[in-house]
Amino acid sequence: KVVCVTGASGFIASWLVKLLLQRGYVVKATVRDPNNPKKTEHLLSLEGAEERLHLFKADLLEEGSFDLVVDGCEGVFHTASPVLFSSISDPQVHRISAELIDPAVKGTLNVLKSCVKFPTIKRVVLTSSMAAVVLNGTPLTSNVVVDETWFSDPLLCQELKEWYFLSKTLAEEAAWKFAKENGIDMVTINPAYVMGPPLQPTLNLSVEMVLDLKKDINGVAIANYTSTDVRDVASAHIQAFEVPSASGRYCLVANVTPIHEALKILKELHPSLCPPEICEHDTPSAPEFQISQEKAKSLGVSFLPLEVSLRDTVECLKEKGFL
Ligand code: NDP
Repeated sequence: KVVCVTGASGFIASWLVKLLLQRGYVVKATVRDPNNPKKTEHLLSLEGAEERLHLFKADLLEEGSFDLVVDGCEGVFHTASPVLFSSISDPQVHRISAELIDPAVKGTLNVLKSCVKFPTIKRVVLTSSMAAVVLNGTPLTSNVVVDETWFSDPLLCQELKEWYFLSKTLAEEAAWKFAKENGIDMVTINPAYVMGPPLQPTLNLSVEMVLDLKKDINGVAIANYTSTDVRDVASAHIQAFEVPSASGRYCLVANVTPIHEALKILKELHPSLCPPEICEHDTPSAPEFQISQEKAKSLGVSFLPLEVSLRDTVECLKEKGFL
């Protein structure tokens, strides 16, 4: 079976390509710069890559850029989207549009437009995010269970200047509208903060944040750590494609853990990851809210425990010289 993965050099996509090759798929993978070894070498050295991995150059903002790559595929995994948090802390509207919103929204529509042209495509799996789920105005208190029926409110994202949240919300919203209008069978995977050992040589943002876990994306102290391991996220994408009854959205959050518990685990793994002024305040606090795993589990998704995910992440960061 032939499938396409967009943004293949990224953190989640690299694991997705690895698992797809392991399962015997032929993978047509897009990267922005096929001549940059930092973006391609780790993919080309995967088991099965020589025989079954084909790299294509594609850009989210280039009309028709994905035609060649989705042609002949049965499944399309659209993961490419800018993951930018801190670099757009200042509300420069033109930068937000050009660097975040346009590649996310226009890029997604661009990929879907290519999919409409080729009847071989049976299903599209879109990597969305919990950022497109949680910000609907309902306060996240202890009796709240977030599930797939929630959809973030773009106006609220804008009001709160949560530009990344806005990009993922608008992209998923536009994707559902386009998919319904054009009869595309689409499933979305909505993970929260993705952790785990990176395959790529450079650090992606969510793993980099393990080095500074006490802060959230805007540098604000956070109460809870909501994460999922990258290997479970990649597997969930494949299950979303392979399980015929998969439909709609899937929230993917392994745990909602009080931040001090996560920091305690990190301290054991590498003391510098939990500075004393933070670790001393280890008053246990209950998770503020829950995220339903019911739908994800019905798809067959399993979740690695936080301890395992953090351990493997830290080990990998040590091996790669980041710690
Ligand atoms: P990475 O930054 O590692 O990967 C992002 C990918 O998108 C890269 O391959 C990047 O290409 C590509 N990309 C970005 N902008 C463009 C563009 N203009 N044209 C073409 N390609 C582009 O991030 P992740 O692997 O973490 O994220 C992958 C997906 O998962 C994203 O859709 C993200 O929103 C979503 N997600 C991530 C979470 C996380 O915590 N990591 C949580 C929830 C959802 P290049 O390598 O050339 O820069």
